[in-house]
Amino acid sequence: MNVEFQPLDPRRLGPIIGPERLTRLLEVATRTRERLDGRRVVNVNSTATGGGVAELLHMLLGYARGAGISTEWAVIHGDPEFFAITKRIHNRLYGTPGDGGSLGEDERRRYERTLATNVESLLRTVRPDDVVVVHDPQPAGLVPALVERGARVVWRCHVGIDRSNEWTEQAWDFLRPYVATAHAHVFSRAAFAPSFIAPETLAVIAPSIDPFAPKNTTLSPARRREILSGAGLLAGAGKRGPRVRRAEVVREGLPLSPDTPLVVQVSRWDRLKDMAGVLQGFVEHVPTEGAQLVLAGPAFSSVADDPEAEAVWRETVDRWHGLDSGDRARVQLALVPMDDPLENALVINALQRQAAVVVQKSLAEGFGLTVAEAMWKSRPVVGSAVGGIADQLVDGVSGVLVDDPRDLRAFGKAVARLLDDPGERRRVGRNARRRASTHFLPDRHLLDFAFLLQQIAA
Ligand code: UDP
Repeated sequence: MNVEFQPLDPRRLGPIIGPERLTRLLEVATRTRERLDGRRVVNVNSTATGGGVAELLHMLLGYARGAGISTEWAVIHGDPEFFAITKRIHNRLYGTPGDGGSLGEDERRRYERTLATNVESLLRTVRPDDVVVVHDPQPAGLVPALVERGARVVWRCHVGIDRSNEWTEQAWDFLRPYVATAHAHVFSRAAFAPSFIAPETLAVIAPSIDPFAPKNTTLSPARRREILSGAGLLAGAGKRGPRVRRAEVVREGLPLSPDTPLVVQVSRWDRLKDMAGVLQGFVEHVPTEGAQLVLAGPAFSSVADDPEAEAVWRETVDRWHGLDSGDRARVQLALVPMDDPLENALVINALQRQAAVVVQKSLAEGFGLTVAEAMWKSRPVVGSAVGGIADQLVDGVSGVLVDDPRDLRAFGKAVARLLDDPGERRRVGRNARRRASTHFLPDRHLLDFAFLLQQIAA
């Protein structure tokens, strides 16, 4: 239940963020430690690997611990039935029906029953003076028990949509009795907060990425080709990286030459990431000669809280089979193993760096870590103007936004324009790197969180 993670020394950020930003970070860390006065910060979510939240917590909690803040991380357990209900809530918070099932009293009973089996062991770890940060809908039902225990409780929601609809209303009706009792509520964007959240308990904090994580560290062109050839995504370029196993790749013909211009989307196999739409938009509206699309996501058996992954992967493969042979030869689909996080991170890093254009054609998105990762790597990103992505990319400056995420023609046009113009790719990529450096690095995120902790500890 407890997740092991390594402390990360915030001083290592110095060479990237510069002395001024580092000094401020260290000062605020000291003040926060004093205010917390020995209280621990315990985080609770539903998975230690796979997807943005797990990715984020390794980094954020690592730096918090490295800054001397006593930080813990616990993961709840659930069975497939529980995760089917929480996935339904997740989809509805994004304004979509998901599997179309109900969120009534039966579901509530099942949801609470699973959380009741987690509460005992959690309450054995949580002390009355702890600050507990509960992430997302899966463990949200634990909030009242933690409040009752005497902890100061923050509920942090990483998902959301700008305008509510009947589906979001259903999800909020379900969650409200639990999350309304928290002392503070964190959203990645103010518009994601439902109306019952009192403004004085609301904090808006966007996520960030770690420039030193294996997912983001610099890789030489030779090293990244070596990794991608080891993973079976590019044709052999000399020796194979020792750590990298083959991904499961669906393609026609041989692995690609390293000189092929790649369009890449990296995502969980989730319908809201619209991998099938990327595929269709690319083959129908990106005429660029020689360009190839790579859709990569985690080997699904490894993401316990994502029950739809396998079905979405199969749907995407079916779409690929439905293409005519010329189009099939322009697209590859890859399942990247997740059981070795370092290996997975290296493959994703290499793929993002190898991309001529990175795309994130989500139908809804809280905040795209994949977008921030690509921006940090100076890649031009074409993203849907939904949720957090609309804040992350400044259209025409540090990325390209497509207003309607279902407009395949506009999507294809934006991608083709970048593919056909290397100068524009470089310009947008440079601006993206600058923007990521100002807004999406850990010091900004840690400062935001530190101020919240100071308030809540007061
Ligand atoms: N990711 C990964 N391997 C994969 C697919 C995704 O490591 O095969 C990572 C990706 O690099 C990013 C995170 O998972 O760090 C996804 O976060 P994002 O915010 O983009 O989407 P979420 O999964 O939270 O909806």
